[in-house]
Amino acid sequence: MAYQALYRVWRPQNFQQVVGQKIVTQTLKNSITTDQISHAYLFAGPRGTGKTSCAKIFAKAINCLDSQDGEPCNHCENCVAINENRLTDIIEIDAASNNGVDEIRDIRDKVKYPPTQAKYKVYIIDEVHMLSTGAFNALLKTLEEPPAHVVFILATTEIQKVPATIISRTQRFNFRRISADDIAEQLIHILTEKNISYDDQAIAVISRAADGGMRDALSILDQVLSFGNDHVSLENALEVTGDADDQSLAHYLSAIFNQNVTEALQTINTLFADGCSANRLIEGIIELLRDLLLQKNDAQLLTQMSYRQLDADLITAATQIQSAQLYQMIDLINEIQLQLKNSAHSELFLEVMTVKLANAAKTAAPVSEGAAANQAEVEKLQTQVAELKQQ
Ligand SMILES: [Zn+2]
Repeated sequence: MAYQALYRVWRPQNFQQVVGQKIVTQTLKNSITTDQISHAYLFAGPRGTGKTSCAKIFAKAINCLDSQDGEPCNHCENCVAINENRLTDIIEIDAASNNGVDEIRDIRDKVKYPPTQAKYKVYIIDEVHMLSTGAFNALLKTLEEPPAHVVFILATTEIQKVPATIISRTQRFNFRRISADDIAEQLIHILTEKNISYDDQAIAVISRAADGGMRDALSILDQVLSFGNDHVSLENALEVTGDADDQSLAHYLSAIFNQNVTEALQTINTLFADGCSANRLIEGIIELLRDLLLQKNDAQLLTQMSYRQLDADLITAATQIQSAQLYQMIDLINEIQLQLKNSAHSELFLEVMTVKLANAAKTAAPVSEGAAANQAEVEKLQTQVAELKQQ
């Protein structure tokens, strides 16, 4: 049998299986058990957070012949037909590939006909913000006078692009980024079911890189498994995400705190040469600085919020750094990150960042010869950046 992507195989089939959206799923289930179904819903939130999955589950649940507590049964005639994508009363439209007025006019013409088999005709319009103005106007007309047997579920990753006139005619649900812990739990559940072993740190790396999206997490896991499908190793996870290992990042920051610019430059250049992505490196450094800030201010909060142990050498090196300097460093990195977006010269920006960070680390200390040397490095790199911008 052809390999099926994990996110397809593990797509939730009922509300209980949806990860990290308790408030949304509970409210939807309540509306079904109390028979308060709206004519139009708007599911807004980042990609991969379960919007289309919930739309399909909702479409099943309101048409299910044996629904319990607002959940679809997944074995009645209607549920099975929807799961097999052959119930014509459930219409899925991807506005991203299909933003014509004609499609929406077609809905307007057909919406008045009752469903053929199900109780409700359900239109799921994905990426609804991609519709053209003409199409939005046509949709608005339908939403103004919706027939009783029709339910619209509009999903979007960019709510700010959806006209207010549409939003006001829908019941809105906000899908949140899924926490790294919830993602990790689901990954472990899947791997256990599949009898695949894993490094704990590999799971942490994948959950973090997924940035709140389950679909991304599963797609990274798929790629890691393509390296070897009997074990999920930290090494392979880092390779796929482009992250640096915690130890190297801690080593890098320790060198910065100790004003050892040469050592820091060597570390970051090696990581970059080994295939780490500049963006992920920067993210990793910001996370580590945030952890140090927390550690300085509220060590207990750190254990609640973070998933990694701080390196002992790093903590020692950080004792000479004030919280204000850590804030300054984070600001500095954010700036570099913005510049990096428009540049093909990632390595140079990483070097500039390194020298600037080392300078920020010493602001509190008296100016030494080393500082003058660093200043010279900064000026040299700044000239290089200016030259590159002119190209
Ligand atoms: Zn059913």
